Amino acid sequence: MDINAKNLLEKLNNNHALSIDEYDYLLKHMDIDLMNVASEFARIKQRQHYGNKIFVRGLIEFTNFCRNNCYYCGIRRDNSDCERYRLSKAQILECANVGYDLGFRTVVLQGGEDFAYTDEDICEIIRAIKSSNPDMVITLSIGERSRASYEAYFNAGARRYLLRHETANPELYAKLHPQEMSWQNRMDCLQTLREIGYQVGAGFMVESPGQTTYDLAMDLKFIQDFKPDMCGIGPYISHKETPFAKETSGGADTTLFCLSLIRMIYPQILLPATTALGTVDEHGREKGILAGANVLMPNLSPTSVRSKYTLYDNKICTGEEAAECVTCLRNRVTAIGYEIVEDPGNRSGFNTN
Ligand code: SAH
Repeated sequence: MDINAKNLLEKLNNNHALSIDEYDYLLKHMDIDLMNVASEFARIKQRQHYGNKIFVRGLIEFTNFCRNNCYYCGIRRDNSDCERYRLSKAQILECANVGYDLGFRTVVLQGGEDFAYTDEDICEIIRAIKSSNPDMVITLSIGERSRASYEAYFNAGARRYLLRHETANPELYAKLHPQEMSWQNRMDCLQTLREIGYQVGAGFMVESPGQTTYDLAMDLKFIQDFKPDMCGIGPYISHKETPFAKETSGGADTTLFCLSLIRMIYPQILLPATTALGTVDEHGREKGILAGANVLMPNLSPTSVRSKYTLYDNKICTGEEAAECVTCLRNRVTAIGYEIVEDPGNRSGFNTN
């Protein structure tokens, strides 16, 4: 293990801040021993704030129509092989009710950027879920919208919003997205969401095509500066019907290391062990928790549409019923000494009412 890198980890653990160059140094010197030190530090921080509790969010992937054409994503507009679907309001409500009965106290409504659902539709869905389950916290993940739309959803009762920034480097952003997509607008959306009062989730792909350790270091610095309430990260995974079909997918290790660093940067953060991490490594989600993650996002979408929401190839959990997924995750989490709890799972220090 590189001794300077170990010293930097200690500095980060104590001060919660490093420079971009220091993060870059850590990433360049990552090895199994450094990863182990980082995950030990991260686990201690996680336990200080969340004990052995793991929060769950039920993911409802309600539409795979998307107006965007991100080069990496399987539901991009120009993928004509993608079989498109939209869930009706009644179907979405049903998923949320199933989730409530399974113990979920928060659901994430995620989709492509599909403007067939008007703001009023989204608001009606939010109100319907809240009126049948008033203690259900609603998270949206439906991409870039106007301030007025974000405000309308908030007024209807949504309290969290996930919008990964994808990369903190605008130049890399421009390599991953077509020209009509704007890094600045995405960053502005995150700021707007925070101003409105949402708990905000940013996040990035790890080992996306062309990404350097310096790019990842910029992401870590961004997390340090912006301090999102949540941060979703996972390895980039190729999808066969995208322009990046032939690019190499990321592995689990760099994501695991980044999870540990993020836990040290912002100990109270909500940090999911993502489905993408579970896809590149059979035990990726358990390893993610042991590296500092404290959130899991099992799928509540109807099994009939699961396999159609393929952002990347070989996505796991596309066959099982929601209840089976929950049982499976409960067993996995218990096996490593943690416990899934029935709780809205706010960031420590934040209230949702
Ligand atoms: N359209 C919404 C959310 C859906 S996509 C939005 O824009 O926020 C959710 C996340 O999946 C994306 O933010 C991206 O980081 C991730 N993703 C998409 N394609 C991926 C791929 N090929 N490999 C890994 N992650 C991917």
